[in-house]
Amino acid sequence: MTSDGAFDFTVIGSGPGGYVAAIRAAQLGLRAAVVEMAPLPGGTCLHSGCIPTKALLQAAETLDGAHEAARFGVTIPSADVDLPSLNAYKERIVQSNAKGIQYLLKKNGITAFAGRGRVAAPGRVEVTRPDAPPAIIETRAIVLATGSTVRALPGIEFDGDRIISSDDAVAMARLPASIVVLGAGAVGVEFASIYASFGAQVTLVELLPRLLPLEDADLGAELEKAFRARKIAVHTNTRVEEVDLDGDGVRITASTDGEPLGLAAETLLVAVGRAPRTDDLGLDGAGVRLKDGFVEVDEMMQTAQPGIYAIGDIVNTPMLAHVASHEGIVAAEHAAGSPPQPLNYDKVPSCTYCAPEVASVGLSEEEARRRGHDVAVGSFPFSAIGKAKILNDTRGFVKIVSDKQYDEVLGVHIIGAHATELIAEASAALSLEATAESLFHAVHAHPTLAEALAEAAMASHGRAIHI
Ligand code: FAD
Repeated sequence: MTSDGAFDFTVIGSGPGGYVAAIRAAQLGLRAAVVEMAPLPGGTCLHSGCIPTKALLQAAETLDGAHEAARFGVTIPSADVDLPSLNAYKERIVQSNAKGIQYLLKKNGITAFAGRGRVAAPGRVEVTRPDAPPAIIETRAIVLATGSTVRALPGIEFDGDRIISSDDAVAMARLPASIVVLGAGAVGVEFASIYASFGAQVTLVELLPRLLPLEDADLGAELEKAFRARKIAVHTNTRVEEVDLDGDGVRITASTDGEPLGLAAETLLVAVGRAPRTDDLGLDGAGVRLKDGFVEVDEMMQTAQPGIYAIGDIVNTPMLAHVASHEGIVAAEHAAGSPPQPLNYDKVPSCTYCAPEVASVGLSEEEARRRGHDVAVGSFPFSAIGKAKILNDTRGFVKIVSDKQYDEVLGVHIIGAHATELIAEASAALSLEATAESLFHAVHAHPTLAEALAEAAMASHGRAIHI
């Protein structure tokens, strides 16, 4: 074993949590190191999550656009998916971003260790390296940022071909003619959307009563309507009981509200959530506490062991890249003694990039009522927005939930074209504690989809203009 130097701040894992934490620490003058066991930095987000799925969704949107081109008076004789080119496009983006992260680490003077990291003791990280003896890093602070892995359902093993995970789906080795997607959270509905655009016959199965169960109920209902219009079969309240390989495909035995349901498809995609990656991290003797498999932290992202932090998917907060990154910034600032601003999880935006897109920030109507707010709701449909007509996509609406007493905007919920971009204004509004009144006094340019936000704010006062 060699001692490979002393650092102030050592991060295990270089996903959006880990690499951002290291950069912020370096900005604050800490000697920072990152340990990564994968060949390239970036984590799930870059290699099998956010970025490649959005590349696939962009290709899906382009294909849908080509099929609808005639509506715009544009002739495109034929359009189809070219799988090798699609995968090459996706890979170009991934490689370019990985290089970008390497550049940023170098620019900030961060030492990168290639290998598997574990906590040898508080203040000490051991790195097992493929082609070198283990390295020992002495460090003032350790940040656990090892992310998560796909979760299988008991009795349903992934085989990478007929029963696949999101990792397999991202790789897109082939396009099945039919697919059952199990789980209607963000990952499930995004893949249902991608496969439907690429011409597969898609069936979406969800145990709970609605799609996107974590979102405001109106969004799930509207998405179900839009998916059915896209010929995606939707089965909510449905429990999968058995999956059998059958000929070239899979046979699924399920029940909906107790009534038997049989499904068959070429491929089954299981998208039922992810499991935090805490195995073999040396946590047993490190004084770090786990709960339900997640590492327990305080609002400064510090574990039960002072000097050991945990961020991102291994802590029980929303499994989102931007959450991981902000948690990394909080950990770095705390370790550097620079007063951090803890994350307000009530104001974290959540985006689902299916067609139509879904995005929200803040409290759902149900949650706002549960917390005792006297709630005002304003909704405005994109069908009354000129820009939506120009885009030939009038699906969906903006819904604003505010507090009647103070008029403070508590939540904004959007389904429709470009919802994931529109939500940024709502995030800023919540962050600035805006009122519905102030939202509609902010002049919105015409013609834009964002006008629906101002109209929804006015609707919450019974003053929407264009409906
Ligand atoms: P990760 O990104 O998982 O990174 C962890 C890193 O740690 C990995 O590089 C891993 O190799 C490394 N590592 C693990 N153990 C060790 C060890 N012992 N030693 C050294 N290195 C180790 N989120 C969004 O916000 N927007 C999206 O659009 C979005 N889309 C998604 C789509 C899919 C299909 C999936 C699966 C996820 C998506 N997510 C999305 C979630 C997002 O990817 C995660 O929330 C995010 O990557 C978590 O970041 P992290 O830094 O905690 O961990």
